[in-house]
Amino acid sequence: MKTFDVIIAGGGLAGLATAAQLVEKNKNLRVLIYEARNIGEGASGVPAGMVNPATGQRARLVWNAEACFRMLDKRIDQLNSGFRTNLKLQNGVMRPAIDELLAENFQAAWHSKRWPKGWIEWLEPKEVQKQVPYLKDCSGALYIRKGTTVRAPEYLEAYADYLKKAGVRFVFGGPYSLDNDKGWTLSNRTNTFSAPVLVVCTGFKARENRYWNELPLNAVKGQLALYHCPEVIRNMPAISAYGYVTPIDDHTLAVGSTYEHHFHDENPDAQGAGLLDQKLKELMPELYNKCNRIGQWSGIRATTPDRLPIVGEHYDLKGLYVYAGLGSKGLLYSEYVASLLAMNITEQKDLPFEISLYRFSRMQELRDQSDEQNHS
Ligand SMILES: Cc1cc2nc3c(=O)[nH]c(=O)nc-3n(C[C@H](O)[C@H](O)[C@H](O)COP(=O)(O)OP(=O)(O)OC[C@H]3O[C@@H](n4cnc5c(N)ncnc54)[C@H](O)[C@@H]3O)c2cc1C
Repeated sequence: MKTFDVIIAGGGLAGLATAAQLVEKNKNLRVLIYEARNIGEGASGVPAGMVNPATGQRARLVWNAEACFRMLDKRIDQLNSGFRTNLKLQNGVMRPAIDELLAENFQAAWHSKRWPKGWIEWLEPKEVQKQVPYLKDCSGALYIRKGTTVRAPEYLEAYADYLKKAGVRFVFGGPYSLDNDKGWTLSNRTNTFSAPVLVVCTGFKARENRYWNELPLNAVKGQLALYHCPEVIRNMPAISAYGYVTPIDDHTLAVGSTYEHHFHDENPDAQGAGLLDQKLKELMPELYNKCNRIGQWSGIRATTPDRLPIVGEHYDLKGLYVYAGLGSKGLLYSEYVASLLAMNITEQKDLPFEISLYRFSRMQELRDQSDEQNHS
């Protein structure tokens, strides 16, 4: 049996960031990441990840945006140094007001006092046209200077390399069984690993863990398509209206995403391709006619009812933690939330209520029941 201080199940954004925050807070901690498949095979492997703090159709500033950016920027800079390619694709995200609803919402966001200084500006239609000549007519755009796009698969690769160097052990081991007897034991076909702490970072699969099947998580399938464009599109900014369009090199455009609450399988399909073609066609009709779809990708997001992550220790089982529900904001939230979780695990520092398990009444009910049973 191999013993560790912490076992993390799942090597997506949540798992990698949790491992990093734990070993950076305590160099002597022995941490294992147990990934059932491969790094980036979950939702985190999205070909182009947008980091957009102006969320949804109302372009609202996301939860704790400044702290999230501070930590993500630091991580990107650290991983970038020495990596073969720049992990950042672009700085800035343009949110064009392509219809009346978005125009009203984005103007309201622009006038909102909640934004940190210098993060957003308003672009007049002429300026939008200059930056993105292919875009359909709009009444201006909210430009989020602070936004960015990241090469997510390379980010994960650089992250895993860094963690290996920092002493984190990785096992890619397929199915396993879990036992809870004086700590947590994970056994696969060939090995057994044990630790007093187990953190479940398995994305939408967290609910498949028998101890976490009451988590308020929804699985939402998302598909993204890649298009070859004969024209050079490298200088085009990342665009987010109803979905997003972002160049990933001189001639390749990523178009995302679908939000499918009911789906039969996890793979890309023709219906998804049709929806993504439609998104590109509506947003950039002229460019669409010149483009060829050359690839498609799908993943499953785990979302909570209030769209914030869900993190914390099990109501009944000591040493068992969960970190899930990153929804569409995995890049932006993962690092900051992992740092809070690491402090919760190692220093018993309380987690903010907004991301805790117990903001949901069902989880609170389970905790109350468990307290009653343990005290009776
Ligand atoms: C189409 C699409 C577009 C997206 N675009 C963006 C974007 O632009 N910006 C952004 O920030 N986010 C985006 N996201 C969301 C983002 O990808 C997620 O928020 C994030 O990846 C979730 O990370 P995670 O680590 O919680 O889960 P995952 O990435 O799903 O990682 C879970 C890992 O656990 C592994 N696993 C599963 N079961 C087990 C088990 N039993 N034991 C061990 N390991 C297991 C899986 O193989 C996987 O590697 C997008 C998602 C999709 C689907």
